[in-house]
Amino acid sequence: MKLPADIVDRLRDRYAARPVLVTGGAGFIGSHLTDALLDLGARVSVLDDLSAGLIANLSDRLESEPERLTFHHASVLDRESLTVAIGGAHTVFHLAAVGSVQRSVEDPERTLAVNSTGTARVLDAARHAKAHRVILASSSSVYGDAAPLPAPETSAPRPRSPYAASKLAGEHLAAAWSSTYGLDTLVLRYFNVFGPRQRADTAYAAAIAAFATSVMEGRAPSIFGDGKQSRDFTPVANVVLGTLLAGAAERRFEGEPVNLALGRETTVDDLARAIAKALGKPELEPTHTEPRAGEVRHSRADVTRAHELLGFEPFGSFDDALAETARWYAERDNPDPDNPDPNDMGSRAPGTPSETPR
Ligand code: NAD
Repeated sequence: MKLPADIVDRLRDRYAARPVLVTGGAGFIGSHLTDALLDLGARVSVLDDLSAGLIANLSDRLESEPERLTFHHASVLDRESLTVAIGGAHTVFHLAAVGSVQRSVEDPERTLAVNSTGTARVLDAARHAKAHRVILASSSSVYGDAAPLPAPETSAPRPRSPYAASKLAGEHLAAAWSSTYGLDTLVLRYFNVFGPRQRADTAYAAAIAAFATSVMEGRAPSIFGDGKQSRDFTPVANVVLGTLLAGAAERRFEGEPVNLALGRETTVDDLARAIAKALGKPELEPTHTEPRAGEVRHSRADVTRAHELLGFEPFGSFDDALAETARWYAERDNPDPDNPDPNDMGSRAPGTPSETPR
């Protein structure tokens, strides 16, 4: 993942030797953020229960930089582990979450426990540890289907799923911890993020992962609805950059929500075609099935605030990022038959498992 060189130089001054905590750091976005933080010289503590993340996402860095990367295999609901993991962290990047809308529909209580109560516990651990700032990964789903296009942060949230409601609750908790305890908190609303390491092996896979997997298996990408629905698909490097800028910003925050995305729409049809082309199978034209009930038709971020508060500018080529992601799905190794559990940490990572990885 390449970030713009001039910004990296600036960020290196801010992050060198800085202790930080990344919750959910074994996941898709969290592991890219962890890589970038290590590249900037930070000392990173990761806390993840591996319910969706993979230790393999961190294993190279755990081996090569054991003095700067520590892994804590635990849940954000576990206060003692949080206290240990947070240590003297200056900045807390809270990304751990049950991230699937579908899963939240099937098991709303689990989603609320992790995403809302878990967020309260992270905020409280940060407060007691006197952390300088907590950055909360929230989601465009809090807007529901009522926001104008592009959606500014001032539009009234209208969560339409337990997942969206749990994320909005987390946002309110962050603001409440700022006003009650004076904790510096900032909320980042990520839109549809894509990139290497996004898992495609569950029923809840994101659209890009699912399309790439279908194309690799020689099947046409299957789209819910007519394919004209659009999203603000955002390469993971942009989200990592915005998140790093959020941690480095020199002002106080009190739970302000900030959209983080490219600020452009791509239809799901165009996306599926671009992936088929990137994987050398342009003849696999997308097919369409019944629309999913309650699906938002269009979504696009207004990124003015990210620019004004964080200095964030989208960077890089969308098509290159998409092709890189599609190739990653095409090239990644098949599971090792001698070690079928991708979260089998062997002797690589310290920490005592508190939950059995699924
Ligand atoms: P992910 O599932 O890859 O990462 C989430 C990580 O949190 C996983 O590693 C998982 O094991 C971990 N986790 C789950 N429950 C936990 C718990 N109780 N304790 C500790 N760790 C736990 O998902 P992601 O796409 O990397 O998402 C990261 C964050 O960004 C999430 O908060 C998600 O809601 C948010 N987000 C993601 C997107 C997107 O498009 N990927 C969009 C909007 C918001």
